[in-house]
Amino acid sequence: MDNRSKDFVFVPFCLMAQAFQAQGLVKYEWKGTIKPFLELLIENEINIVQMPCAESTFKNNLVRQPMGIKKYDTKEFNAHCEQLAYDVANQIETICRNGYRVLAIMGIEQSPSCCVNYIYTNKGMEKRMGLFMEKLYSKIKEYKIPIIGINRKHIRKSLEELKSVIEKNANS
Ligand code: SF4
Repeated sequence: MDNRSKDFVFVPFCLMAQAFQAQGLVKYEWKGTIKPFLELLIENEINIVQMPCAESTFKNNLVRQPMGIKKYDTKEFNAHCEQLAYDVANQIETICRNGYRVLAIMGIEQSPSCCVNYIYTNKGMEKRMGLFMEKLYSKIKEYKIPIIGINRKHIRKSLEELKSVIEKNANS
């Protein structure tokens, strides 16, 4: 008997490894993993896929200062994000083609690479996806997978969104 779960959630690399965040950004109670999301996924027997971290893998820059989206928005960094998004989109397509389900993709709000809904710039809040997330979204939008942005200061809303996606899929 094969007892596997066929449900998946794709998470940003730093959700499971806060040390991959730029310097000075790990301000809240989560020092290593942002536990409530992982606990929820583990409790529900969901396969967790850790997406690559666009910023730390660009020039292998683990210990780095935070930079705004304007500085990241270069030809080289966009090409790097494009390659990573291509690889992740392939994984998602493989999962869906084989009859398994991707219940959600998670992002990190305010990240130049991984935000889903908004980022703060020196002109105030801008409504947009990050450079990696927009490329990933454009490749997999036909699958209509919910993309949930985590505000690390106030995680409740995105945690509730994830819970509701899991509950909805449990009944389908
Ligand atoms: S690029 Fe994405 S995965 Fe990497 S630290 Fe930023 S939000 Fe996390």
